[in-house]
Amino acid sequence: MPPSISCFGGVGEIGGNKFLLQDRDTRVIIDFGTGFGDGSDYFDAGIQPRSVNGAGDLFEFGLLPEIRGLYSEKALQNTRLKYADPEIDAIVLSHYHSDHTGRIEFTDPKIPVYCGETTSLIHDAYSESRSSPLDDHPIRKFRTGDRFRVGSVEFVPVHVDHSIPGAYGFIVHTSEGTMAYTGDFRFHGPAGSMTTDFVRAARKERPELLLTEGTRVGHGDGRANMTEKVVLEEARRVVKGTRALVFSSFRGNDVDRVNTFFDACQNSGRRLVVSMKMAILLEKLKSDRRLKVPRVGKDVDVYVKRKRTGSLDDSDYFQWERRFLDLGVSAADVKRRQKETFLHLEAWDFPELIDIRPGSGGTYIHSATEAFNEEGEREESVIKNWVDHVGFRYAQLHASGHAPSAEVGALVGQVGAKKVVPIHTEHPDLFASYRKRGGWRLQIPKKRVPISISG
Ligand SMILES: [Zn+2]
Repeated sequence: MPPSISCFGGVGEIGGNKFLLQDRDTRVIIDFGTGFGDGSDYFDAGIQPRSVNGAGDLFEFGLLPEIRGLYSEKALQNTRLKYADPEIDAIVLSHYHSDHTGRIEFTDPKIPVYCGETTSLIHDAYSESRSSPLDDHPIRKFRTGDRFRVGSVEFVPVHVDHSIPGAYGFIVHTSEGTMAYTGDFRFHGPAGSMTTDFVRAARKERPELLLTEGTRVGHGDGRANMTEKVVLEEARRVVKGTRALVFSSFRGNDVDRVNTFFDACQNSGRRLVVSMKMAILLEKLKSDRRLKVPRVGKDVDVYVKRKRTGSLDDSDYFQWERRFLDLGVSAADVKRRQKETFLHLEAWDFPELIDIRPGSGGTYIHSATEAFNEEGEREESVIKNWVDHVGFRYAQLHASGHAPSAEVGALVGQVGAKKVVPIHTEHPDLFASYRKRGGWRLQIPKKRVPISISG
């Protein structure tokens, strides 16, 4: 059998990347994420797979591949797939977004997970403050410039720019050919040149096969491709022009966005107040000297939620939360200093606004992708109701973590692989439009069908 790659997710869908690389007797899983729409025909309207049933409820609807020697004993206890000692040598991870990591929680913790150094710091923060799908796995760390071998396969990780730090693409040398995998990428973030580094490194290796994401392919670029720089300029303007509280719910692990809003705060004499979950993440990322994150306590304050009525003491908070209590900012503090505060408030914490009771005239910054389906529209309208309720202005400010269509096409041309396999896209067929005159073959992946890497 020539070396091959099989796609078990990310096929005709955005997210849910799950690939199996086989070369001689080496078997490696590359990303093992949750699809955004995974099983939404069955698991929606409050219906969730039962975690007590391990992988069982997901197997029922074909949402996880039944691969021998991949899953933990616990995940399989109530399924027809029998537990076997690991037959997978490694799980290699591109970055720490749930559509790439989410299903690792079902895998056998004996299987080592290879990830970037920064990803392992993010994992530490999640592990301490909630849970991480990588929990209990041995972690092998890499960074750009490293190479590592798993059986007959050599991996060369090269950094890419994405909306989370520590994102990588890979050049994968098998015994009979080379594959390049982009992971998720963009060129318009503060570290856009890292993606160019990946493209250059991949091109040099003359890969047989390119496995590339295409999130924004076919979505039209009706909305301008807002860069992080534009978000920063707009954020400065919006924050400066607001006379009352500014609050926003943005992803704490999007360090570029954290820095953007931190900059806007400094520019207008405001303090950034973050959730405890974001605070612990910033603390962990502090040790990555290449990332510049605001320092907790020095640059940013931490919002402390009231956990019950009456007077509180340390025992009301989890161990990991207690270190932030002294730096804590309460609802009353935010109310008092609302003209000098930029509050990071996750949507699920919006009821805190009832305690804060901000005066009207503030601004809410929606810093996420605009809704693209009914469910998203419903969520957005709930957020807008809260914003109206407190008499605030609603501002949309976001730069995507993904390259627009034309830049994906340019990357495909520059890498120059013989075969292109589009994944993490709803429109793999549209990749045909990037092919001017022959040159490469478009291979639309089918779930579970191996694609040869050797040509
Ligand atoms: Zn993704």
